[in-house]
Amino acid sequence: MSIVSFSEPGKAKRPYYNEEHLMFQDALRKFLEKEAAPYFEQWEGERFVPRSFWKKLGQNGFLCPAVSEEYGGGGGDFALSLVLSEETARIGAGLVGPGAHSNIIVPYLESFGTEEQKQKYLPGCVSGDIITAIAMTEPGTGSDLASITTTAIKEGDYYIINGQKTFITNGIHADLIIVACKTNLEANPPHKGISLLLVEKDTVGFSRGKKLQKVGMHAQDTAELIFEDVKVPVSNLLGQEGEGFKYLMSKLQQERIMAAFGAQIAAEEMLRMTIQYVKERQAFGKPISKFQNTQFKIAEMATEVQLGRTFLDELIMKHQRGENIVTEVSMAKWWITDMARRISPECMQLHGGYGYMEEYPIARKYRDIAISPIFAGTNEIMKVIISKNLGL
Ligand SMILES: Cc1cc2nc3c(=O)[nH]c(=O)nc-3n(C[C@H](O)[C@H](O)[C@H](O)COP(=O)(O)OP(=O)(O)OC[C@H]3O[C@@H](n4cnc5c(N)ncnc54)[C@H](O)[C@@H]3O)c2cc1C
Repeated sequence: MSIVSFSEPGKAKRPYYNEEHLMFQDALRKFLEKEAAPYFEQWEGERFVPRSFWKKLGQNGFLCPAVSEEYGGGGGDFALSLVLSEETARIGAGLVGPGAHSNIIVPYLESFGTEEQKQKYLPGCVSGDIITAIAMTEPGTGSDLASITTTAIKEGDYYIINGQKTFITNGIHADLIIVACKTNLEANPPHKGISLLLVEKDTVGFSRGKKLQKVGMHAQDTAELIFEDVKVPVSNLLGQEGEGFKYLMSKLQQERIMAAFGAQIAAEEMLRMTIQYVKERQAFGKPISKFQNTQFKIAEMATEVQLGRTFLDELIMKHQRGENIVTEVSMAKWWITDMARRISPECMQLHGGYGYMEEYPIARKYRDIAISPIFAGTNEIMKVIISKNLGL
């Protein structure tokens, strides 16, 4: 079990980090301190992370650490992917794009792609020349994935795609998009009609809609994508026709662990900065950390954060061993993201008026964390899954 350290960021030992992970972490942290931290404010203001930063990440071997070495990747395990998510999250949640690309989207290509698709795309994904996105959500449907209306109708050796997607992470930068489409409109049940298709950015009929203005994660690029008679060869099918829903479900366990992990890191960071602040800030002739209210609030939050860490560490190790832990991961996703969101206003409150000022990082954390109970499957959907698996 790892004990959360609130004194220094990222000092806690993780049971799944070995020497290799710690070396990767150290190198990545130094890289981010030089190449991301000094510019992050600017990126948040511009609401964009420049492509040059992606390239630098790739050139230095930090993208796609789990992709096999034969395609140029690091050939690492899941814990190496966690290091990437952890270190970018410490800079800011707005830097979630490279982690989503490396740890959530590219794994679809590696798991379900043909040898030809892998040869064609994976080296570019690793180098930062190809940025990926996965497009499931539509203006009319998010949680109810089986009801998507984007269609891909086969005509000879091509599929013709029509539809619209929204809220797509990396949508503006994306060079390659995995699009969830209906290839069989008659399928019963409807989710058996879903397939995944690869669409390259320059394909005729593909366009990007608005870059969306979000409450938080300002530097993160999130966009609408439009498909109007987009013609892709049948060789762009990812895996088998009609298996898309199954592929998505199979990868969601990892995506949800990542969502819980990001929220856990955010909770630990919020509490760390709050503990530091209350020790320094004086009121009525003493540090505000000496008021019993402050102490009890922090003691309660530290307990919840430790509970989250303990649960999550166990699930990470089970996931690494390849165990099916859908129910527990759903529990962790809702509970940890909810816990992190719940403690964010408490941490802000303990900062007083300064907590409401942009120059204090707690303000940004408060905004950024609000999304985590919504994406990667809403927390209500997590409870639907848990209830179903309990036989209710
Ligand atoms: C910043 C951001 C990034 C995202 N990135 C991506 C991406 O890269 N790719 C992608 O495809 N999508 C992405 N999404 C979309 C995200 O996954 C969806 O927003 C999410 O799944 C919820 O779908 P929805 O917004 O349509 O809400 P809805 O499904 O309309 O839900 C609205 C409310 O109803 C509740 N609800 C729905 N069904 C039930 C039910 N059965 N029981 C109880 N309550 C229910 C929900 O929990 C929610 O509270 C992103 C979203 C955001 C905001």
